[in-house]
Amino acid sequence: MQIIESLEEMREVCRKARRKGRSIGLVPTMGAFHEGHLSLMRESRKRDEVVIVSLFVNPIQFGPGEDYGTYPRDMEGDTAKASAIGVDCLFTPSADAIYPEGYCTCVLVEGLSDKLCGASRPGHFRGVTTIVSKLFHITMPSRAYFGQKDAQQAILIGHMIADLNWDIELVVLPTVREKDGLAMSSRNAYLNKQQRQEAAILFRSLCWAAEEIRGGERDAQRIRAEMRRMISSMKTARIDYVTIVDPGSLEEVSRVEGKVLLALAVWFQEARLIDNLMAEPEKG
Ligand code: AMP
Repeated sequence: MQIIESLEEMREVCRKARRKGRSIGLVPTMGAFHEGHLSLMRESRKRDEVVIVSLFVNPIQFGPGEDYGTYPRDMEGDTAKASAIGVDCLFTPSADAIYPEGYCTCVLVEGLSDKLCGASRPGHFRGVTTIVSKLFHITMPSRAYFGQKDAQQAILIGHMIADLNWDIELVVLPTVREKDGLAMSSRNAYLNKQQRQEAAILFRSLCWAAEEIRGGERDAQRIRAEMRRMISSMKTARIDYVTIVDPGSLEEVSRVEGKVLLALAVWFQEARLIDNLMAEPEKG
């Protein structure tokens, strides 16, 4: 596996691959790899001739006071894991190379960026769509891989690809979970034992809600209230949001009529965890 830091070298590797007619898969990450990341890499390895994994902790998607400085970093472990999967290139640009002095351009998916996580993390998604757009320009992949774990991010990237006419296939893969259902996340490393145990309530509450919806419950307000009650019963949990939205517009629904996205963000001390599940009333 090649480890490439230079933007120009990364471009050149991709140019050569394209000239040879090879398909390129891009897996954008911030590192500290777990099975969620690895599932994206494996899928790209199956489908693409050249697999590129970018590893960049993107400063502009972190707000002031957020965990940019303490975000888990494990270059050695990440290199071993990516290499074992057969990734071709690990792209590890520096922040200075990505955002040189005088950098002033951003890509913003308007409206949708302000909802859910965007409401509590102003500027976050502008940072995400800007870096992903830059990575697309540098590598010009045939496919780009994202996790359903970050549902809003995947929806925004889908919009960006369509709106900016990128010729890129977006592949969104299911959330990989721990045995008790907790979605794998680099930020789970922040949890102490009690928080880790209590965090399993997130997926349990989502499953409960999905089951209610399947069974015919239409009152979104009632479901939300019960989810909030379940989560709040955990001593170390502090809710940021719990919501039921239309998966296209991300607008909160009051009645469940069709497919909905159940989404939540909950703090366990300094760890802000997110999770989501699609749900739908049973047909017939
Ligand atoms: P991150 O390094 O957290 O920015 O994540 C990089 C990519 O991995 C994003 O597309 C995430 O949605 C995806 N990802 C993170 N956690 C998981 C998970 N538990 N299951 C599936 N994909 C994930």
